[in-house]
Amino acid sequence: MFDLLIERFNKSLSKLSSTRKITEKQVNDVLREIRTALLEADVDYDVAKAFLKRVRERVLTEDLKKNISPTDSIVLTVYEELTNILGGEKADIKKGTVLFVGLQGTGKTTTIGKVAHFLKNQGFKVAVASTDVRRPAAMLQLEKLAERVGVPYYRFDETSPVSIAVKSKERALKEGMDYLLLDTAGRLHVDEELMQELKQIKEAVKPSEVLYVADAMQGQEALRVAKVFHETVPLTGVILTKMDGDARGGVALSVKSAIGVPIKFVGVGEKIEDLEVFYPDRIAQRILGLGDIQSLAEKAQQVIPEDEAQVLATKIMRGEFDLEDMLKQIRFIKSMGPLDKLLGMLPGIGAQLKNVKIDEKKFKKTEAIILSMTKEERKNPKIINMSRKVRIAKGSGTTVGDVNKVLKEYEEMKKAIKSMRGLLSGGSLPKFPF
Ligand code: GDP
Repeated sequence: MFDLLIERFNKSLSKLSSTRKITEKQVNDVLREIRTALLEADVDYDVAKAFLKRVRERVLTEDLKKNISPTDSIVLTVYEELTNILGGEKADIKKGTVLFVGLQGTGKTTTIGKVAHFLKNQGFKVAVASTDVRRPAAMLQLEKLAERVGVPYYRFDETSPVSIAVKSKERALKEGMDYLLLDTAGRLHVDEELMQELKQIKEAVKPSEVLYVADAMQGQEALRVAKVFHETVPLTGVILTKMDGDARGGVALSVKSAIGVPIKFVGVGEKIEDLEVFYPDRIAQRILGLGDIQSLAEKAQQVIPEDEAQVLATKIMRGEFDLEDMLKQIRFIKSMGPLDKLLGMLPGIGAQLKNVKIDEKKFKKTEAIILSMTKEERKNPKIINMSRKVRIAKGSGTTVGDVNKVLKEYEEMKKAIKSMRGLLSGGSLPKFPF
């Protein structure tokens, strides 16, 4: 997600790093590169133009912030404007009936399952229902998903989408649900009948939210369709699916400006937990290569036992990080889910990981190698000489090359953690690493 932008922003902004004073020409050069990056990432042309205009005006007219260097000041401006076009604040989901609209195949049904799972985990009472009477298979798919998530699915022997919607709402109210997630008909193309049906459902149930589910891989086309929906049933938010498969992510930067509604969630995989709350400021940090510290910390909190986390955090803050800790990290991370997604959130290493396919088997190997070392060696890997490497390789059923790789990875991890330390101690806004 956003790999292209991360790489390009890093490249163009890092050019400013060695300069103390910044000329207008340098600003223009950097902005020109950012412009190309935005357009290549499929950001809407007008959105990109307006964004650059604002950044340029602010950089050239505002007093450079007093406590930070001119370079950091530019990065800060880009960060703030990027946060703005991503939607500014994090958007909530209002309690009540939530209508999901969008075209077939965008991931609408899967997304309802994911949102149900998310809200249930937050402690809310959630029920789901489908009004897609023309596609019994889609209804069945949602029913199965609801069963897996562990939330009720409301089924009625009805052929009218509007009656299903109304009856579902009545039942949800009676059963004291916080949310009723209501699926609507999926079509391959927008048509008049579909729009009329949506309008009627909307008028009948007065939803608290109308969420448009869009496939990020469809790029600007997804926005065009969203606008058509928005004209008939005013949307209150967008969920972008398949962000895991879209390295460009331009749609995410265009939604707010183009339609005027925020992105509430992004889908990042096929599994029920592959849904992320969309935090504009964190995404902006991620795009600027500053890492998504908060999201990572939140994920980590879910798995690392409190006291272990405390010990690890203290060690990291003190700059002590040995192979024993790396082993713990690997085990924690393994229990948190797909590694490439997690590592992508780490500051500084997200962009480098672009072409690296994370192999979970490799981590088993790493585990075996570290376990073959003595306690002393894990504390101080520098003492591992050639003959010990041979023994460790033998003990773990690997090669000396593998052992060397683990040691190198350890050094890299240590470096990444060091940069994270810088960020964590830099107050509310991270210190920029260039
Ligand atoms: P619907 O016709 O809009 O209801 O679409 P489905 O929910 O049936 O999803 C269509 C396909 O997209 C399925 O294969 C899903 O697993 C897949 N899908 C949905 N969301 C995501 C996502 O965020 N990432 C990826 N990679 N696949 C997704």
